[in-house]
Amino acid sequence: MKKRIKTVQQLLKAKGLYNGTIDGIIGPKTMTGLSKVKEVDTRLPLTRQITMFIQISANERGIDAGPVDGLWGQQTNAAYEMLVYYLEHGVLPPSWRPEERQISNPNNWPVQNSPEFHEFYGERCSQLITVDLPYTMKLCWDLRTRTRRTSCHAKVADSLCRILYKVKDIYGEEEISRLHLDHYGGCHNERKMRNGNLWSMHSWGIALDFDTRRNQLSWGRDRAAFAHPDYEDWWKCWEEEGWISLGRARNFDWMHVQAANL
Ligand SMILES: [Zn+2]
Repeated sequence: MKKRIKTVQQLLKAKGLYNGTIDGIIGPKTMTGLSKVKEVDTRLPLTRQITMFIQISANERGIDAGPVDGLWGQQTNAAYEMLVYYLEHGVLPPSWRPEERQISNPNNWPVQNSPEFHEFYGERCSQLITVDLPYTMKLCWDLRTRTRRTSCHAKVADSLCRILYKVKDIYGEEEISRLHLDHYGGCHNERKMRNGNLWSMHSWGIALDFDTRRNQLSWGRDRAAFAHPDYEDWWKCWEEEGWISLGRARNFDWMHVQAANL
């Protein structure tokens, strides 16, 4: 919160509405400054006013913070990080372009949530089988726990095995370990998507997560480990089989790969 208050003080100062020190402590001068921003609803609790002001300031600089509602969600958080970058560097971060991907779909994976998708994969949690993995995985949430097996949808099992054998061939066990390609975040898991009402692809056992700690959901290519060139072959192994990396395609959720098109 202190960091956010500092940002607010910086922004107020830039508007000529604050002449105190940038100390991250909210005092009468900061409050007065905030109350002079006419779009900020001063009837709301202070934390919401602060968030509103950050949203307004981001939008003014062409950073889409979403609706100005004073609620701190994923979009506001992403906009805030860009805003902080802007205040430090005077420019926005280099704009994102999609990775060069070879788009092929030899297994004809359907488009997620389409009628064909439901026809192809059937009910959630149905048709699950256990497969043996070509190398030992460590579970992301407890790296001491290891596994050589996972459950997944029967229709993706062969493809998944081909991919992981190829990964093992290309990288070898030492590199796999160094690059955390064996940090496994799981496959089948019946749950809703984190930001919506739709079911996650994990519910059908057709999506896998890797190295969740270094590839957090909202991180883009500037922070996500799997955006590094060392992972180019890793992604090629998946993409040759038609799997989609959300990181490579959409620049978020770099931990995640799925056997369904977007
Ligand atoms: Zn995932």
